[in-house]
Amino acid sequence: MPKIVVKNKIVNLNGDEMARVLWNKIQNELILPYLDLKLINFDLSITNRDLTNDQITSDAALEIKKINVGLKCATITPDDKRVKEYNLTKKYPSPNGTIRNILKGTIFREPIIINKIPKIVDHWNKPVIIARHAFGDIYKSQEICVNKKGKLTICFEDEKGNKEEKLVHNFETAGVGLAYFNVFESINDFANSCFNFALKRKISLFLSTKNTILQKYDESFKQIFDDVFKKFKKEFEKNSLTYQHRLIDDMVACLMKWSGGFLWACKNYDGDVMSDLVAQGYGSLGLMSSVLQSPDGKILKSEAAHGTITSHFRQHQRGIETSTNPIASIFAWTRALKQRAVIDDNSDLSQFSDNLENICIDTTNHGFMTKDLALMRGPEQKWITTNEFFKIIKNKIEN
Ligand code: NAP
Ligand code: MG
Repeated sequence: MPKIVVKNKIVNLNGDEMARVLWNKIQNELILPYLDLKLINFDLSITNRDLTNDQITSDAALEIKKINVGLKCATITPDDKRVKEYNLTKKYPSPNGTIRNILKGTIFREPIIINKIPKIVDHWNKPVIIARHAFGDIYKSQEICVNKKGKLTICFEDEKGNKEEKLVHNFETAGVGLAYFNVFESINDFANSCFNFALKRKISLFLSTKNTILQKYDESFKQIFDDVFKKFKKEFEKNSLTYQHRLIDDMVACLMKWSGGFLWACKNYDGDVMSDLVAQGYGSLGLMSSVLQSPDGKILKSEAAHGTITSHFRQHQRGIETSTNPIASIFAWTRALKQRAVIDDNSDLSQFSDNLENICIDTTNHGFMTKDLALMRGPEQKWITTNEFFKIIKNKIEN
């Protein structure tokens, strides 16, 4: 089998624990034997982030910005326990946060649908893709505790000292207050990311807000999306795609009624909550993929939505063969390869990626699956180890 030539490079960010074990196996057994591909490797393992004072993370993000296509293995975001475990000099921030701040993109979370794997919401037979506006709102808010009588106001002061003040509440008894903000530039980037993604994937787009209540705040999200849509309207119509704004309460009702197959643009908090709800509705974390895409749609970083799967890594360290699901990590590779294929106009590469995705789905549909998926099918379903799963996949690539 001659190797497929991939003309341009891909940035490869390695990670930690069991996810790293899977990542290396995918690279060495399923990708590099078949592709003549140059990877620009960055080791984002927690030990190397510590060694480089986290410089490696920013360097990796800047390289993705230059090359346009990146893929990332799950990494440890250290808490106090991890600082002790790895003897770290600092509690480094989440690499995903650092990378997102540099690439300024939107995260799209997409379930991988496999017919034989029952879903909690049975009729979701096409993916619901969630885009979360990961900026501002309650995540950048200021709270206040009130424990005496008095008034709470909100005030904006311009550079010249002119003030605009509004009364929020006259407190007669104790309570709490909150103020938060967003900026149009970020909402505009979010809208562009969403329209570009919908167009690329040929799916319709819905934005949800509560603009009946927040007639300035949420209304500005709607206004900005409406404005950005003007630029995309023709292309959407050409592809029979639609864009609609819906109230968040109406949208959650639709989510339950519909069978999937759309992109849902969520405000920050809604996206936080809904992405976990939707993930659970589709079943397993091992079947959830995630891409970060820049507003202009040119830069893409793909990954699995799950973490480093520490519990499985502990077994692996003790020499026990695990049954860890590699499908979301394999899709992280194929989604990045497809982006490379589109930019480079490389149909062989695109075919290779589609084929690898189909093999994963077919193999599972034929009853060969890891334990997480077998458990969803019930006690009768047999499961295989990760190594056995890789062997079958590799065999199918070659035949
Ligand atoms: P996790 O690694 O996603 O694992 C949570 C549990 O989900 C696992 O214990 C396992 O359940 C199941 N699971 C997840 N992926 C699976 C797969 N591919 N195959 C089979 N089962 C799978 O989340 P976590 O344990 O909360 O976090 C572990 C580390 O990952 C943390 O240090 C965290 O900082 C990091 N993290 C990184 C990212 C990222 O880089 N994007 C995201 C989330 C978390 P069972 O044990 O029941 O089998
Ligand atoms: Mg959440």
